[in-house]
Amino acid sequence: MSPQDMQDLAAEHEALLQFFYLAPVGLIQISLGGEVELMNPLSAQLLMPLSQDGGLSNLFQVLESVAPELRRMTADFPTSQGTICDGLRAQLTAGIRGKQDPKMLGISLIKVDEKRMMAVLTDLTLAIAQERQLKYNTAWLNAITAGVTDYALMSLDQNGNILEWNPSIGRVLKYKKADIVGKSFSMLYKEDGISPERIIDYLKEADEDGWSLTEGWRLKADGTQFWSSSMIVPIDDVAAEIDGTKVLSENQGLSYALIMRDITNRNREAGTRLMAISSDYLTGIANRRTLFEAAELEFRRWHRHPRPLSFMVIDADFFKKVNDTYGHRVGDLVLCHLATTLKNTMRDIDTVARIGGEEFAVLLPSTGLDGATQLAERFRNNVEAATVNADGVEIKYTISIGISTMEASVSGFDALLDRADKALYEAKHSGRNTVKIWRS
Ligand code: GH3
Ligand code: MG
Ligand code: MG
Repeated sequence: MSPQDMQDLAAEHEALLQFFYLAPVGLIQISLGGEVELMNPLSAQLLMPLSQDGGLSNLFQVLESVAPELRRMTADFPTSQGTICDGLRAQLTAGIRGKQDPKMLGISLIKVDEKRMMAVLTDLTLAIAQERQLKYNTAWLNAITAGVTDYALMSLDQNGNILEWNPSIGRVLKYKKADIVGKSFSMLYKEDGISPERIIDYLKEADEDGWSLTEGWRLKADGTQFWSSSMIVPIDDVAAEIDGTKVLSENQGLSYALIMRDITNRNREAGTRLMAISSDYLTGIANRRTLFEAAELEFRRWHRHPRPLSFMVIDADFFKKVNDTYGHRVGDLVLCHLATTLKNTMRDIDTVARIGGEEFAVLLPSTGLDGATQLAERFRNNVEAATVNADGVEIKYTISIGISTMEASVSGFDALLDRADKALYEAKHSGRNTVKIWRS
């Protein structure tokens, strides 16, 4: 190893340690016998109330009263690597002085090799929903345990610009220092996969929740895509939370840390499973469920920071006739054509879903009525101009579109959907093959 390599490795190790310290979950490296080798400050905070004698030298011992099964589970674990438990819930009722609330701790334990394990502790009593917490727990586990070879670590300023070079950026993302430092991390996204507002969303989420976690396709310097799990953590805030101990005194200028992992291979199986539950079986685009989840997230964002958010519903015109004339199979092919055209017309940040038989919907973040109308009109045009070749038959079809947009009087996603539906109804009644906007 050259001196430069050694230096890089040392810098990286330090960066990882820094991240470890700032993690919004408790992270502990232990031996197979439970002896604590490394622990971040949050772990100490979470575990201290459980310690009988003020000591935290053995995790199994500390957790004896709330999760006595951990020792057994570890001893019985048959292989040299793998997840021993994932999100085990431990109820901490006793022993917390001055605290009335029942506390719940989520514990995940992963065996890294024959000697080491990592434990991830999450405070499930935090205001954030338990399910979300557990998801983060798993994500963190993924983020730190797959060896230290496939994550890129970077620091971001208030605007999401990359502040410093870290060798992992070169290794994982294949960038050269001069091509990435000082640029917005949005360069790691596909062209229309992120908007300036969305960057601010992620940073604000990190400020308010302690972290912002996303999964999606990202780009390497050579243009190849990889499926990534990314987490943004505010550095100053967390450091302040760690009370008194100025962990990051030499890094006062930093604002956020971003860790980006390539989980393309590891999550292929999980990804296939996720695809199966989140996408529509016929067209492959998002299903109703996924749309509602995306909408819930957008609504949460809107309530924090109101900004344009629009929605459209699309319904194929006289579709019954297509089926009656050409058969159901041809009808299916037309629906696939519609889905593909829709997906190709909309941007990557839009959620494009099939919500019913021949009904589709698109959620349009950072888009006001004008923008939504333009997109809808372009799509309506694309469909009208296209000819579908289905099993040798050439078919022309049209669609109608209803649009609604988010404002204070919209109580929830159902209401937004309802408005778009009413506009769609109007489009149908005014002759179809047209776009209508909801009006009170
Ligand atoms: P309108 O312009 O008023 O929307 O007329 P329409 O015929 O499209 O509307 P209607 O709701 O009467 O009929 C919808 C048709 O869509 C009925 C059904 O046969 C067809 N359909 C629904 N789901 C599927 C599907 O998955 N595949 C196929 N081929 N057809 C479907
Ligand atoms: Mg319909
Ligand atoms: Mg229809």
